[in-house]
Amino acid sequence: LYLAQQRCRAAGWPLALVLRLRYSAAFRNKLAASSHLMFNRLSIRYKLLVLLGASLGVGLLISSGVALYTTFVAEQQASLRTLRQVTAVTSENMRAALAFRDGHSAQKILHSLQADPHIQYAVALDERGSVLAQYQAASISADRATRWHKLLLQPSALQQHMDREFHYVIYPIELEGSPVGRLAVLSDNQAMYTKMRRYMVLQIGVTVLIFAGLLLLSWRLQLIFTQPITQLVQGMRHIGSSKDYSTTLHTDRTDEFGELYQGFNAMLREVRVRDEKLSHLATTDPLTGLANRRFALETMQTLAAQSERNQTPLGVILLDVDHFKQVNDTYGHPVGDLILQQVAHRLQASIRTYDIAARFGGEEFLVLCADTDVPTAVQVAERIRTVVAEQVFTTPQGATLRVTVSLGVQASITTPEAMMQLVEAADQALYCAKQAGRNRVVAHTEGAA
Ligand code: GH3
Ligand code: MG
Ligand code: MG
Repeated sequence: LYLAQQRCRAAGWPLALVLRLRYSAAFRNKLAASSHLMFNRLSIRYKLLVLLGASLGVGLLISSGVALYTTFVAEQQASLRTLRQVTAVTSENMRAALAFRDGHSAQKILHSLQADPHIQYAVALDERGSVLAQYQAASISADRATRWHKLLLQPSALQQHMDREFHYVIYPIELEGSPVGRLAVLSDNQAMYTKMRRYMVLQIGVTVLIFAGLLLLSWRLQLIFTQPITQLVQGMRHIGSSKDYSTTLHTDRTDEFGELYQGFNAMLREVRVRDEKLSHLATTDPLTGLANRRFALETMQTLAAQSERNQTPLGVILLDVDHFKQVNDTYGHPVGDLILQQVAHRLQASIRTYDIAARFGGEEFLVLCADTDVPTAVQVAERIRTVVAEQVFTTPQGATLRVTVSLGVQASITTPEAMMQLVEAADQALYCAKQAGRNRVVAHTEGAA
């Protein structure tokens, strides 16, 4: 548009006004910014295609422009050469007629030029420059013939000249070394332009075909670069939505894309390791290594749902170390910690593999037994009590001590909503055990609180 506007201005056409083009600097900047934005929005695949297409287009345009121009120059030279040969042959025939100033023969010879329909005008002059004979094609107007006559006869006329519409050759005629006159022949450029037009159509056709072929090839080539990226992006999106970090992305590539995949997989591994560490930290009690209170209650939800679904009782044992304050007071807090670790260890060893032991509070533990009624839960509790009571603990200072635990038991069919009642009932039973003298198991009975 800018170029069109400039051309219109230069030519003084009112087109610029009609179009009301305001091709100001601001408009140009806006155009550049919006095309930049459009380009940025394209996917990598289309960015590559646009770049490849643009560079191919520019390359082909330049090369076909150069080819057309050189062909055009060569055609001009060839036309002049051909006309020069025709003029030379005619001059040879004309030599005798000129020497004897035989205008009739000269006219006849010139007339033979009509065999070439492109020859428009010819004139034979004697050595003084006066016209001996002339020829003009039938289609030529008298005006034109006069113009060309003047052009060919002017002293500054070149030996040969190529113009936009016509070309001419002026050939000197000699007889035995001395000049006897000259012959000027003018031909139109129609034959050359027809040839050039045909060549141009062919050239444009071939260029368009090559461009289409190369564009197709570019489409195949861009896949080499964009496929691994799009696959990686798809993989990332899938992992992002499914949160499945155990996946690894596979590629056969060994280049930088292969490295990218490896890097991505290494990052996934790192995320997995951190995930595991985090979930371990979030679910485990750091002192005893047992499940923590949060994880115990989460698991209890699942077991309560299972109890409701299967109509099987869920057994709950609440356990508290007896007179633990005394242990702390007598041996110190670090020894208290060691004792807690040992008790947890004993506790874990005394329950069945499918039961879950957790540290519920300071020196309080919870055991969950799926599909377990009160008598069975009492048995488990009794086993724990015995194991702990029989254990002799040794302090780092070499002192030995024993600790006992009191246990409250409750078991019933429950639901996730009602499960805390089970824990409360076990707590009441534990209270009873404490009240009854400690180091014992008490099962909850209705009205025990
Ligand atoms: P009872 O038989 O009635 O349960 O008496 P107790 O002394 O065990 O009960 P109390 O609740 O009075 O004391 C519990 C003590 O447990 C108090 C607290 O310092 C101690 N304790 C709680 N958590 C820890 C811990 O992580 N490490 C240590 N060493 N002691 C703890
Ligand atoms: Mg206690
Ligand atoms: Mg306590």
